[in-house]
Amino acid sequence: MIQRVAYLSVHTCPLARPGSGDAGGMNVYVDGLARIMAARGVQVEVFTRQADPDGVGVVEVADGYRVVHIDLPPPGDPYATVNRFVEGVLDWSGAAGARYDVVHSHYWLSGWPGLVLGDRLGVPFAVSFHTLGRVKNLNRRHDDPPASLLRIATEEDVIARAGCVVASTPAEAAELLEHYRADPERLCMSPPGVDHRLFHPGDRRTARASLGIAGTGPLVLFAGRVQPLKGLDVAVEAFARVAASHPDALMLVVGGASGERGPAEVAAMLDLVAERGLAERVRFSPPMPHDHLPAAYRAADVVVAPSRSESFGLVAAEAQACGVPVVASRVGGLAHIVEDGATGFLVDGWDPAGYAAAIGRILADPALAASMAAAAEERSARFSWSATADRFLSLYEGMAAGAR
Ligand code: UDP
Repeated sequence: MIQRVAYLSVHTCPLARPGSGDAGGMNVYVDGLARIMAARGVQVEVFTRQADPDGVGVVEVADGYRVVHIDLPPPGDPYATVNRFVEGVLDWSGAAGARYDVVHSHYWLSGWPGLVLGDRLGVPFAVSFHTLGRVKNLNRRHDDPPASLLRIATEEDVIARAGCVVASTPAEAAELLEHYRADPERLCMSPPGVDHRLFHPGDRRTARASLGIAGTGPLVLFAGRVQPLKGLDVAVEAFARVAASHPDALMLVVGGASGERGPAEVAAMLDLVAERGLAERVRFSPPMPHDHLPAAYRAADVVVAPSRSESFGLVAAEAQACGVPVVASRVGGLAHIVEDGATGFLVDGWDPAGYAAAIGRILADPALAASMAAAAEERSARFSWSATADRFLSLYEGMAAGAR
């Protein structure tokens, strides 16, 4: 039986507020997975970097789930970071007398520490990448810097040596096979869940009132980190077309700057909104605490997710759980979450006209909007943390049994 697991999240702490900087879906994922595993009686330690010099060392998050922050040298030398992180985990687990059944890394930066710790502790090692450098490069906008060679080399090495590589969707599994020649025998698939206690349908008027949104006209929502990968530029251009035929339509953007181009991208988006004469109709909100997101979804008629690459796409899954249709790009996890024509629309490519047409169809047809809302909520049932926990427990059992 699995008793204790170590999750490595060097890049970002699961307790950080998602929606800007380095914090997004992966934080929500690692936190959600740790909580459900702890609820199943597994002791979980999430090891992460100490981002704040005055930060707390160990946070007891819930019964059986703690986050351990490791002091790291200033960013610069990745090898020093890996060494210090590994030593920090070994020191902490040695002092605590922790014996792990599995080490599971999240994101490429945790890959090498996971491989080394798996070896040093003599336990099986699993990895989830959440995004893959080569896949991200495929559709990146021309001005978005490509993933580094160090990242791609690390991903290749870790994929070749991990006991198990976990994909979130069949599309990510296919990408691992195609772009990284992953061994199918060591590949498994497990989508994350949505917290249905938080994300469920609710009254639109109440939600709008809680956000201070006056008016009953159509509302289009974009939620997430603002960087070229997420396609806010496409969403704004699409909304400009929608706004022309819906004089009372509004758009809400929830999230903040992220990635190398983040602050410049936010400034560019504000300029774009002004150029299109939409300053009064597009509202930018700083990142919201995760438990405020349900109100944002419920307030919306449509959620738009034109990501250029997306390994899963929690925003789409959460929106659907709240009974809101989603218009998304036909990439990665979004194509797995959104059922084209039933729970929203999938759009090929990044021409804003396609997104505007799809949003327009939903806004123009209340019967279609209502049936999509119902289908979206129904579809979201397939993304449950409980099912995710079952899959991970059986994966870890199999790995631990193989190592005995
Ligand atoms: N999110 C949030 N507050 C915000 C904006 C986003 O809590 O202001 C959360 C959102 O609910 C979702 C996550 O951030 O759980 C974004 O995940 P997604 O997979 O859509 O994108 P990623 O950040 O992984 O690219």
